[in-house]
Amino acid sequence: MKDCIFCKIVRGEIPSYTVYEDDVVKAFLDISQGTPGHTLLIPKKHIANIFDYDEELASEVFARIPKVARAIKNSNPAIKGMNIVNNNGQIAYQSVFHSHFHLVPRYTSHDDFGMTFKDNSNKYTPEKLKEIQQSIIDNMGD
Ligand code: AMP
Ligand code: ZN
Repeated sequence: MKDCIFCKIVRGEIPSYTVYEDDVVKAFLDISQGTPGHTLLIPKKHIANIFDYDEELASEVFARIPKVARAIKNSNPAIKGMNIVNNNGQIAYQSVFHSHFHLVPRYTSHDDFGMTFKDNSNKYTPEKLKEIQQSIIDNMGD
């Protein structure tokens, strides 16, 4: 896509610190470096977000994540774990609308990454959970 910043990176029109690339994906350092080694893995094909993947592209892209994750982890003995984050839609903090997976190495519980969600389990009856379960199942498609 012409004006997409990540398509421009794929085409080499703007520079990136690429760590891996093949015919399907490109992985490069996130310019924000939330923690040292913070990397983005993107499909080379322009696709906005998770809702637009078909199974074939999803399996090709997802299959490449562990290899890049391991390389990042092995690059620095101080890396103890990794959060893999994928934001979809503005409400979910997506700011670049070319699908990407954040690989965020974790060093300590006080490094510069945080992710929390509330435990609301005490607000849900089994009936309510069944209703939610069924409405998702009803929309599963093929
Ligand atoms: P998100 O908010 O999930 O859409 O993430 C977009 C990410 O793209 C942010 O973490 C930015 O730091 C990163 N980003 C934006 N432009 C560039 C760029 N030219 N090179 C590397 N990372 C970028
Ligand atoms: Zn794009």
